[in-house]
Amino acid sequence: MIKVVKFGGSSLASAEQFAKVGKIIRADQERRYVVPSAPGKRNAKDTKVTDMLYACYHLVEEDKDFRIPLMKIKERYDAIINGLNLKLSLEEEFKRIREDFNNKAGIDYAASRGEYLNGIVMANYLGYGFIDAAEVIFFAEDGSFDADRTQEVLSRRLEETKCAVIPGFYGMGADGKIRTFSRGGSDITGSIVARAVRASCYENWTDVSGFLVADPRIINNPRTIKTITYRELRELSYMGASVLHEDAVFPVRKAGIPINIRNTNEPADEGTWIVESTCHQSKYTITGIAGKKGFVSVNIDKDMMNAEVGFGRKVLSAFEENGISFEHMPSGIDTMTVFVHQPEFEGKEQAVISSIHRLAQPDSVELEGNLALIAVVGRGMKSTRGTAGRIFSALAHANINVKMIDQGSSELNIIIGVSNADFENAIRAIYDIFVETQI
Ligand code: ASP
Repeated sequence: MIKVVKFGGSSLASAEQFAKVGKIIRADQERRYVVPSAPGKRNAKDTKVTDMLYACYHLVEEDKDFRIPLMKIKERYDAIINGLNLKLSLEEEFKRIREDFNNKAGIDYAASRGEYLNGIVMANYLGYGFIDAAEVIFFAEDGSFDADRTQEVLSRRLEETKCAVIPGFYGMGADGKIRTFSRGGSDITGSIVARAVRASCYENWTDVSGFLVADPRIINNPRTIKTITYRELRELSYMGASVLHEDAVFPVRKAGIPINIRNTNEPADEGTWIVESTCHQSKYTITGIAGKKGFVSVNIDKDMMNAEVGFGRKVLSAFEENGISFEHMPSGIDTMTVFVHQPEFEGKEQAVISSIHRLAQPDSVELEGNLALIAVVGRGMKSTRGTAGRIFSALAHANINVKMIDQGSSELNIIIGVSNADFENAIRAIYDIFVETQI
């Protein structure tokens, strides 16, 4: 069995962190393929190497002297190399990077060097082979990830290499230039590698012990989710919870490979399992709570709306013609409400109202701003009675006015609208009723 292990920037920020990672990898022979991020922050005030590279390359673009910032980046690696007592010099690599910068190799090339160099250090430290991601991860002409070509080349290459380090975050574009995924993209590389070798599991090592039931900035010390399905994860990530890059689930999901989120600083913790499907029930009926502030509800009334064919389409075209995407759309008999992002909508509100009047001839259109949406997600809701009831009684108890409720027919989530000011209290009330009291 093969495990693919990806380590995030904070797991690789210093020689001390590298040593923890080395210990984790050596503890299990199945951990054969390693995907590193670039060195991250060593403390709250520190700067990630990727951000240093972006800043350094901006100087290149402005034809300014970039030697000192580049030297500072080299120092980050040298501190790791010396701390680990490795016989490795990055002198030549940095010489080439300097030349490539002078030749304006591009911002993606610059950013990718963080992972590239960390991969070289990691391979040297572990005694693993090094595979440059530019040789095995490909992007198509339109800039999207080329899954087919990558799968073919990468799986063949990995078959020949028993143990290897493949840097995260970048690959080769159709024009032969380095391209990166979006920020946090090493998660995606890990997932692609896991699929290519048909791994039994994709371990994603970070600095938290898994996915939390709620945001720790709102809930003090929230519980960890033991098992979450891909669909639940998608709902929670969409609503703002983040541990893993959203696009990282697709490759492994396709291949039925579970993801295990682990903590480099607490390797004994089991972390969170992200799976296709499970018969394990969550202890708390709900799996997680997430939410976002800053929505406007656009409430449209029209007598006999229900009987009018095409009414919804006309209303939505009003948003479309103003270039606004909508978030949710609960409806009643003679009303429908469209939730949109406030910052996107504000400047266009009057244009949208007039479009709605022109296209759908409603009786009235009313706006309410400063709303927050909270998603309560859980596969367990399907088989449990009274989930919505519990949410509402908890919110009523906390004196919170519920502005909207929307339960999808999949019974995987309940979405609640409250005012921005009530957002944190609402999350606390819901968390308490399901997790703390567990009645
Ligand atoms: N180093 C890149 C970033 O900071 C990619 C990653 O860490 O996944 O976004």
